[in-house]
Amino acid sequence: QYILGIETSCDETAVAIVKDGHEIIANIVASQIESHKRFGGVVPEIASRHHVEQITIVIEEAMRVAELQFSDIDAIAVTEGPGLVGALLIGVNAAKALSFAHGIPLVGIHHIAGHIYANRLIKEMEFPLLSLVVSGGHTELVYMKEHGHFEVIGETRDDAAGEAYDKVARTLKMPYPGGPHIDRLAAVGSPIIDLPRAWLEEGSYDFSFSGLKSAVINTVHNAEQRGEVISPEDLAASFQQSVIDVLVTKTVRAAKQYSVKQVLLAGGVAANKGLRSALEREFAANEGVELIIPPLSLCTDNAAMIAAAGSVMYEKGQRSDFTLNANPGLDLSIHN
Ligand code: ATP
Ligand code: MG
Ligand code: FE
Repeated sequence: QYILGIETSCDETAVAIVKDGHEIIANIVASQIESHKRFGGVVPEIASRHHVEQITIVIEEAMRVAELQFSDIDAIAVTEGPGLVGALLIGVNAAKALSFAHGIPLVGIHHIAGHIYANRLIKEMEFPLLSLVVSGGHTELVYMKEHGHFEVIGETRDDAAGEAYDKVARTLKMPYPGGPHIDRLAAVGSPIIDLPRAWLEEGSYDFSFSGLKSAVINTVHNAEQRGEVISPEDLAASFQQSVIDVLVTKTVRAAKQYSVKQVLLAGGVAANKGLRSALEREFAANEGVELIIPPLSLCTDNAAMIAAAGSVMYEKGQRSDFTLNANPGLDLSIHN
């Protein structure tokens, strides 16, 4: 079974071909980061234009690398949402055109389902499982009792983890996307600056990062006003420690309460070295729970993860017709 995946929800034009749901045959990512950098974030109009320019080239490149014909492809899986509407539309329309032209079944995929299924490119999933999704737009704990079943048991009430990283990086005058820069600084700093941790109500699996973000910004501004120098390394380390403490504690607690077999890390912030090693340390001692963490290239946006999710949805009989449309506010929990 060959699934062609297409992902254009944000600022990467990505096309991949995955065999039998877990083997990557081709995985092409055309990143636009350089074009958005000087604006300090993703500019939707620029993203759409790049996708239009790149999509055909990237599809052809994936087919060339895979050495396949369209007649070999069993289904086309495409991100239908959430994301930037103009960006999503390019992928959805390319997928519909290919589906129509070659008579290939079409399957619309939720972007976050894709991030979670990146793990299936590493290891077979065992249920029930818990996924910690930490990306540019999402911070969620997702419980899965079977393939295609997504229950969001906790989510951020304000900023996503990646968003907080990017805003803190901007305060420290680091380029976009800031996550990797903060991660690098944090590794050489010490978490000696006192910053808040938002635990929320007893038993809640929700998150909140805006208070922490504001505390970092205030710390920098106050130091500037007093003419003091604050170590960016220590500030990054302190911020990162606060984020990791909350993420790891809530993930461990949920894994216990829901008696899961596996914990999967997903989303762009899953590339964070501090978070990866904190989870590894925590779950090494947690017998009976297997921790899966995808390699960095499968954590940030790619189409192999969309094809991996598409493989499962296709086997479950899910099909989209030509009314498939970009849905920027698509809900994960009803998408099964
Ligand atoms: P979503 O998946 O929620 O729609 P997105 O697709 O824009 O959002 P991703 O591409 O999954 O998000 O992840 C990008 C985010 O990951 C950015 O906020 C970036 O700063 C962050 N990120 C990448 N690498 C690291 C890292 N090493 N440490 C922390 N954050 C990181
Ligand atoms: Mg991205
Ligand atoms: Fe993403």
